[in-house]
Amino acid sequence: MRLTVIGSGTISLSATRGCASYLLEAGEHRILMDVGPGAAHSMARHGVDWWGVTHVMLTHFHLDHIGDLPTLIFAWRHARVESRAAPLTIIGPAGTRELLTRWAAALGDWLHAPGFPLYVMEPLLEEPLDLGGGVTLTSRSVPHTGESVAYSVEHADRRLVYTGDTGEDPSLSAWAAGCDLLLTECSLPDFMPMTLHLTPSQTGALAAAAAPGMLVVSHMYPPLEGIDLRAELGARWAGPTVIATDGLVLDC
Ligand SMILES: [Zn+2]
Ligand SMILES: [Zn+2]
Repeated sequence: MRLTVIGSGTISLSATRGCASYLLEAGEHRILMDVGPGAAHSMARHGVDWWGVTHVMLTHFHLDHIGDLPTLIFAWRHARVESRAAPLTIIGPAGTRELLTRWAAALGDWLHAPGFPLYVMEPLLEEPLDLGGGVTLTSRSVPHTGESVAYSVEHADRRLVYTGDTGEDPSLSAWAAGCDLLLTECSLPDFMPMTLHLTPSQTGALAAAAAPGMLVVSHMYPPLEGIDLRAELGARWAGPTVIATDGLVLDC
């Protein structure tokens, strides 16, 4: 699999970090994991094949994770002379279908019927979902908003876990244990803890317990920029670590 970081930041406006969005290439699938405001143009800026996205996978409904989904659907419909023909599947927690219905009521019916086949799936928690092509996806509830989920994606004996936004949850590390790549949020410094997000110490503890092949840290608010994140994480976790930047590409 291959992971491209589209946005490693948050809703705190930043010159260098866009809102949450990641492209996961798994077999024949191109799965856009979250699609925060600015993600669509960021994909173009980083040379990502945004036209070829096959799935959009949402972790929760905070705007910094979903804001550019209407933009992308509109772009697939209008950005080129011939609009998109390939089907698109939107995967998200319970309420995703309702979200799209409300957006369509505000923005127009094109959001439901964009001119290409659009499917919506709300997988049951903890139930593996076969996406075809040897790709399996499982979601799990995480403590952030009521609907928030983390995802595990498996393909060809490789496994990636994406936490989405989450607070501290001891059972999350057991669920992620042994994955090849753990893409986790790490929002705020230890001196600014929040129950609904992770600090470097909490992220390091999660990694130490889950023991992934590689830890990728993302979703960073500006107060983290002045901190030696590697040192803070390293107090708990000594394994391979990548601090995400927009445009970064990783094989996993
Ligand atoms: Zn967020
Ligand atoms: Zn959030």
